[in-house]
Amino acid sequence: MSVQVLQSPLAQVEPLPASRDTNPLSVLSEDERLHFGAVHQVAMAEVAPLTRRMEEEGQIPPELVKRLARYGFFGVVVPEQFGGSGQGFFDVVLTVEALARADAAVALLVDVHNTLITGAINRFGRRSQRFRLLPQLAAERIGAFSLSEAHAGSDAFALRTTATPVEGGFLLNGSKAWVSGGREAGLYLLFARLAPEDGGDSRDGITAFLVDRESSGLTVGPPEAKVGLKASSTTPLFLKDCFVADDDVLGEAGKGRRLAMALLNEGRIGIAAQLVGIGQAALDLAVAYAKQREAFGRRIGKNQSVAFALADAAMQVETARLLTWNAARLADQGNETRYAAAMAKLTAQRMAESVTSLGIEIHGGAGYTTDCLAEKLWRDAKAGTIYEGTENMQLTTIAHGLDL
Ligand SMILES: Cc1cc2nc3c(=O)[nH]c(=O)nc-3n(C[C@H](O)[C@H](O)[C@H](O)COP(=O)(O)OP(=O)(O)OC[C@H]3O[C@@H](n4cnc5c(N)ncnc54)[C@H](O)[C@@H]3O)c2cc1C
Repeated sequence: MSVQVLQSPLAQVEPLPASRDTNPLSVLSEDERLHFGAVHQVAMAEVAPLTRRMEEEGQIPPELVKRLARYGFFGVVVPEQFGGSGQGFFDVVLTVEALARADAAVALLVDVHNTLITGAINRFGRRSQRFRLLPQLAAERIGAFSLSEAHAGSDAFALRTTATPVEGGFLLNGSKAWVSGGREAGLYLLFARLAPEDGGDSRDGITAFLVDRESSGLTVGPPEAKVGLKASSTTPLFLKDCFVADDDVLGEAGKGRRLAMALLNEGRIGIAAQLVGIGQAALDLAVAYAKQREAFGRRIGKNQSVAFALADAAMQVETARLLTWNAARLADQGNETRYAAAMAKLTAQRMAESVTSLGIEIHGGAGYTTDCLAEKLWRDAKAGTIYEGTENMQLTTIAHGLDL
């Protein structure tokens, strides 16, 4: 493996100079520890008790969304001058992990909003866009990310939705698919294609638009009926001569591909954090059960085979967490995160699928009933093998770094 191509500071040929200030990766600063503790407390006290109800109703109650907004969970990276808390991307990752331990659908809503919407506007938005949109997004307006289309998922840049320049803006036509939080969102970061003669660059003309939910010509379709993450709405969007003003182009018209790719690296790290939270929840549940369930006259956790399986699961969770935290810290310091993000996401999706499956088995027959949370964690984890890139897409990215 050509480690320098992968740009892993952990694998330089020459050892890095020792620094007294370098903490082990798993050590949080005092601020980070307090932040994680505060989110975890809210997650356990206010989110976890609602998780079954949210599944049954297929939605996150609007009053819970309001409370999460009041706690500042939608403004983690929004600067204080716009009503946010001005924290870093690592704090988003801690927020998402803590919420996912209670409910993965709630974590997903908060994750997409922070990593893909407020983070994007903060980084790439014009001054006028930041002043206009960030205060609303830090308060209660939900943002959703719309890149995929029915025929363009892994091959996302094969998208067909068009943007045609008109006086003062663009008309969008086409349909988008799989928008997480599509039903709740007030703002969509939506990608469409300019024809080359309309100013698209010669390669693809992909452009990022900030589309208001109330725009005429935009229709939000009904949510998909999914295996898991049932409280998270996943909707199509239909666009028929939907007008978007020039001022609502994010970045430069025709240059949206690079912007999307930069965002998707952080998106992958956020989803990795969600999967770490799910995996940790499954592990905690299984360990608690192994300590109290008795068979053959003793607690099942006293059997070495059960203890080893749980030890292995604990190691998988920690491995995924360390890769995720490292990728987030790299992002916060302005480093390239392409490979670190793909490795974190792939490790986390494999871990979450395997640990949640083990969680069901440790519970025996009870684990296969809907009375036990183990089955919900397993269903929620499965989405992680698909969104923000399947296993093959992560391996494609990592293999690219090997320069074969
Ligand atoms: C619950 C959920 C939420 C989502 N939320 C969002 C969202 O908020 N915004 C958004 O834009 N999208 C979202 N998506 C879409 C998601 O990103 C895509 O579903 C995903 O990228 C896979 O695309 P696809 O479904 O078209 O599958 P395909 O691309 O058709 O892939 C099908 C299979 O073929 C494999 N494959 C495809 N091409 C190759 C190749 N070249 N080499 C090897 N294998 C290949 C894939 O790995 C996969 O196993 C969401 C999806 C789900 C399920």
